[in-house]
Amino acid sequence: MFIDRNAPHDYLPAHRLSFDAETLVTNTAPGSQRSTASGPWARRHYGGFVRLTTRLFLAFLLLIPRALPAAAQTLQVAAVLAGSAAALSAQEKSALSPVTKSFVAIDAPVIALQHVRVVDGTGAPATENQTVLIDHGNIRELGPDASIKVPEGAKIVDLSGHSVIPGLVGMHEHMYYPAASGAGPVPGAPALLDEMGFSFPRLYLAAGVTTIRTAGSIEPYTDLALKKLIDTGQQPGPKMHVTGPYLEGLGSFVPQFHELSGPEETTRMVNYWIDTGATSFKAFMHITRAELSAAIKAAHARGIKVTGHLCSVGFSEAADLGIDNLEHGIIVDEEFNPHKQLDVCPPDAGNAIEKVDIESAPVQAMIRKLVDKHVAITSTLVIFETFQPNRPPLQQRVLQALSQPSRTDYLAVRTKIAEGPPPSVNLLKKEMQFEYAFVKAGGVLLSGEDPTGYGGVLAGYGDQRQVELLVEAGFSPLEAIHIATQNGADFLGESDRIGTLKSGRRADLVVLKGDPSRKIEDIENVELVFKDGIAYDPKKLADSVAGAVGFH
Ligand SMILES: [Zn+2]
Repeated sequence: MFIDRNAPHDYLPAHRLSFDAETLVTNTAPGSQRSTASGPWARRHYGGFVRLTTRLFLAFLLLIPRALPAAAQTLQVAAVLAGSAAALSAQEKSALSPVTKSFVAIDAPVIALQHVRVVDGTGAPATENQTVLIDHGNIRELGPDASIKVPEGAKIVDLSGHSVIPGLVGMHEHMYYPAASGAGPVPGAPALLDEMGFSFPRLYLAAGVTTIRTAGSIEPYTDLALKKLIDTGQQPGPKMHVTGPYLEGLGSFVPQFHELSGPEETTRMVNYWIDTGATSFKAFMHITRAELSAAIKAAHARGIKVTGHLCSVGFSEAADLGIDNLEHGIIVDEEFNPHKQLDVCPPDAGNAIEKVDIESAPVQAMIRKLVDKHVAITSTLVIFETFQPNRPPLQQRVLQALSQPSRTDYLAVRTKIAEGPPPSVNLLKKEMQFEYAFVKAGGVLLSGEDPTGYGGVLAGYGDQRQVELLVEAGFSPLEAIHIATQNGADFLGESDRIGTLKSGRRADLVVLKGDPSRKIEDIENVELVFKDGIAYDPKKLADSVAGAVGFH
């Protein structure tokens, strides 16, 4: 989902946001070339930006030596009992770089989490007073405290008053973020996206998102390299499933997207990126049916799934072509737009949705088709929420993470939305209604965040908010957590390793203060994040990237 800050917006028409038309002009005319906006680029507006960059850069240089000492710092969890200080296995220790180790709170061969409430990700009710026994990165046993014999030498952690959930599986994540102007929206500036290879991996992990699918890549080589750095322990971060570069047709408004020239090139591109390490693809708004079909065929021939944020191709058409997954939901589906022509993203994209009735027969038929053809929907309510006045509540942790230019940009747009006329139709509500109906009809809903828009959705924090919004949409907290954990793991083909808490799974789990099965907002109270049985300190991770989002 992009980009209203410097450029045309792809799913909400400009009038709804009540900006100057110049700032947010839509640019989806049939067959149009990509934006040729040649206005002054944001740099001239940066003013003190360069000086600020230098200052922050120096500040970060100063931070680095402090981040290096590997000694585990005080844990956030209230009652960590230092069991006999079990020696770290040489193998695990050597796998982590000094930088990664500096964020580790607990690393022991055997760890017992005692007296904890378990929300296992299957949707089953929470169970109280459980012990989770972690052994060399795996959950060895999980059950009532009295039934689990804790081996001698295990590191014991008393988690009374805490809950564990599976690590979140974020299905619409990115390693990039809208480029900042530092001066709010700049008329005529192209929509550019900057890679956040430093801040985003740390924020995902800090928020308890232990697995991500990148759902469209701006710098696919960088994303693949980041995955390697994380998997080899050189950098802290989530497990990454890297999506290839966007499969976009003619008419892209993001200059960083390649525009496909037809099905032959699509097949070549898909095969090249599978050879290079991509494990999924995302089709984008201007792709033609022929190109999408070629992409699906080439990907499926090699066991790889395709998702789409579509506009030129309707959801029903895409389902018939064999797509596996659709992003964002009905808000971006143009098949009910009376002006829709085949293979063209209509110029008034986004306008027709106001009149679409979720209960109507055509929409219900579309839902049935998706369900019958096993096409999953990725919910990204959290990005739509930012276009509602004064939502989400402004959070200090978001402001802390943002660089000054990005903070300025974010607050400028947020204020304009708050001061503008209220939207005539609450699209967030409509999308919620659609997703709830889709699941009740038997559809598979995945959860993601999409850290784009005007910058109000940050890595990890957005995934947590997304689960809260699923509850607002009508799902129970247990269902919402299930959608954000097991459903993603199933879709990725990883459900025998991650996504649920039971013996034999990898120990990817999040320790929360409170009880998210009753109060979903407790999902933000992350105190420890276990990935492969190693616990990371979320506060240290987040503090290490204060002011960095928007820079790197
Ligand atoms: Zn996206």
